[in-house]
Amino acid sequence: MATAQIKEIFTSIQGEGHLIGYTQLFIRFCKCDFECKYCDTDYKADGTAEIYTANSLAERIKSYDTKNIHSICLTGGEPLAESAFLKEFLRSITLPVHIETNATRTKDLQEIINMIKYVSANIKIPSVYGGKDCFKEHYEFIQLCKKARKDMYIKIIFDEHITDEEIKKSVEIAKESDTEIILQPVTKNGKIIVPARYMPEILERFRQKYWNVRLIPQVHKILAVR
Ligand code: SF4
Repeated sequence: MATAQIKEIFTSIQGEGHLIGYTQLFIRFCKCDFECKYCDTDYKADGTAEIYTANSLAERIKSYDTKNIHSICLTGGEPLAESAFLKEFLRSITLPVHIETNATRTKDLQEIINMIKYVSANIKIPSVYGGKDCFKEHYEFIQLCKKARKDMYIKIIFDEHITDEEIKKSVEIAKESDTEIILQPVTKNGKIIVPARYMPEILERFRQKYWNVRLIPQVHKILAVR
């Protein structure tokens, strides 16, 4: 029986992407295969994380009054690092499922794609997050979501260092899959740290290449909710 370490389970208002403003039940997983330099999510296992089986998590979810909850949000960390667990757990879930992912684990997604409705696919920009180029992996992942007709958007976290080449590669992936890009400025300790003058400039650099791009900051941070 698969188990997973879960950092926290809570209800809150979704502050990113297509589902902004809906109340969701968030399940935050502990594992992540990235180390983004801007990451300010407290996802790592420590004394507050708990180990669940698929059954014990399903029981915990049943204890919530879900009539006003729009959907379940699988977040992290990287939820797809627990795909074996999710394959068991999601069978018992009746609410729509939304996954927030770094959009690189295509094989893991394949295992559970039929049980997912919404996808927030984060294209990682190397000059911003500080790691390797994953555009090929992102392309395969997003193509699979497209073929499976998921309700998806592409999230791109940016700062003033994003290059024209990175914008070009991101736009190619979005165009190929006919998917909206939502740009999100880097935040630190709840504050946007990208100078304001770069917002219209970077949005315009994307829009010169692709019409379907919006810039939306993390609304939950503005609202001061989780
Ligand atoms: S992928 Fe997400 S959770 Fe993982 S280090 Fe990057 S920002 Fe943090």
